[in-house]
Amino acid sequence: MNIGQTLISTCLRYPKKIAIIDTAQNIKMTYMQLNERVNRLGNALEAMGIGRGDRIAILLKNCFQYIEISYAAAKIGVIVVPLNFRLNDKEIHFILKDSGSKLFLVSAEYMDVAEKSLNNTDGIKTILINEENNFDNIHKYEELIRNASSAEPRVKINENEFFGIMYTSGTTGLPKGVIHTHRSLLEIATRFIIECKIHDNDNTLIVSPLFHLSGFGTLLPSIIMGTKITIMRTYEPEMFLKTIQDFEITFSLPVPTMINKALDVENLNKFNFTNLRLLMYGGSSISAQALTKAIEVFQCDFLQGYGLTEGTPLLTLSPKDHDYAFKHDNKLLEAAGRSVILGEVKVVNDNGDEVAVGEPGEIIAQTPQIMQGYWNRDEETQKTLKNNWLYTGDVGIRDEHEYIYIVDRKKDMIISGGENIYPAEVEKIIERLPEILETAVIGVPDKEWGEQLKAFVVFKKGKTLTQKEIIEYCKNNLASYKKPSSVEFISELPRNAGGKILKNKLREPYWEKEGRQ
Ligand code: AMP
Repeated sequence: MNIGQTLISTCLRYPKKIAIIDTAQNIKMTYMQLNERVNRLGNALEAMGIGRGDRIAILLKNCFQYIEISYAAAKIGVIVVPLNFRLNDKEIHFILKDSGSKLFLVSAEYMDVAEKSLNNTDGIKTILINEENNFDNIHKYEELIRNASSAEPRVKINENEFFGIMYTSGTTGLPKGVIHTHRSLLEIATRFIIECKIHDNDNTLIVSPLFHLSGFGTLLPSIIMGTKITIMRTYEPEMFLKTIQDFEITFSLPVPTMINKALDVENLNKFNFTNLRLLMYGGSSISAQALTKAIEVFQCDFLQGYGLTEGTPLLTLSPKDHDYAFKHDNKLLEAAGRSVILGEVKVVNDNGDEVAVGEPGEIIAQTPQIMQGYWNRDEETQKTLKNNWLYTGDVGIRDEHEYIYIVDRKKDMIISGGENIYPAEVEKIIERLPEILETAVIGVPDKEWGEQLKAFVVFKKGKTLTQKEIIEYCKNNLASYKKPSSVEFISELPRNAGGKILKNKLREPYWEKEGRQ
């Protein structure tokens, strides 16, 4: 099987079933209509001279066209390069060049940034998705679809061919393109279907961005099973809740910040979530306290997934049975779960040896689903894929039941008075305070201890606490050396284009003199 064939197969089973509802564009289409438009687009791209192995960059918010482009590319062996729409023109320029993209698909709202990013890039054709503006020399999406044949493209795609290159934003350094094959994505889609029991009666909501595997990874299993897929253009808390209610959503994959923000909406009990059976989340953890509230509000199953773009993405999944967790050990609510891959997940020390239960170490994974490597970056690939093991750079702890808890990113570790401290552990405690929306903890230089902890805190709307109250709370809930020595209140944490907190930005003013970031 390849990704294109999964759409054909669903179309044969459910031709007249609604495949996609695009709420922002007020568009509904059946599986048959979707497959036909995908074919037309695939044929139009081929007629433009775009073919097997060529790369095409996509700069769009979530929309039905994103899905059409991805499946059209899959059917003709073209490799998609999804771009984070928060990137600036220089970052996009870098990715266009690095990936050697031949075509750029962009919506009118990003035309400005797209034009700047195309400076000094020869011969990249552009297709404009929505046509409300008139740009010269640019192909128009609907026009291309209208004028092309609806016949199935006659390209035979092997499962090991590349499907996409996803650029990871990286908190430091230049973005790297992670290569995914048809097979690696279908492998995880199958695991996903089994673990989440996705079936044709499901109504999927895609709210996480399609340029990231949190969004795209929800799409693939949904198309394979033939669910009704509702797409939200961007996240807005009230709209998210209303969409779940109005479109009788049964399953979605929001990221934890989205869940936290949704829980902050007033009069939550005015919404009806009776159809919702499963919310899966990942990308970062959520506090046990927030999760407990979310379970109470949504009355559905919650699954925490842990993974990374390089792992395509999902490696572990938390226990579904929250009653079990409540009865036995509330800590389990915070577990990233057990391995769900057709392979192995281990926690190892710097020599690559497995650490004992309860000891922190780097999480590594071996499975056919992991990335093929970084696009044109052999050295980086060799550092990350060693003897077929993916070194995640994440620090985890394994308990006696094989549950893994994510403690931190390896490089984030703070050493204070000879003690290793993982900021994520402290952040989780601080985020249990109901007044706090989010926090980031860094190490700042200290004459006596080497480093001291400093917490940056963002409050929820209208809420506040004193520095003393926060430090006191940490002291009561953590070993004393892990408590922050200072707290700073800020309105927003600095993030990179992928939404990851930029701790080096927070560290910079403190470490400049020491010559360290
Ligand atoms: P990305 O490649 O953008 O998907 O980011 C992957 C990174 O997000 C991982 O390497 C982890 O550091 C973090 N991450 C993903 N899932 C979780 C989770 N469940 N808990 C904590 N951190 C996570």
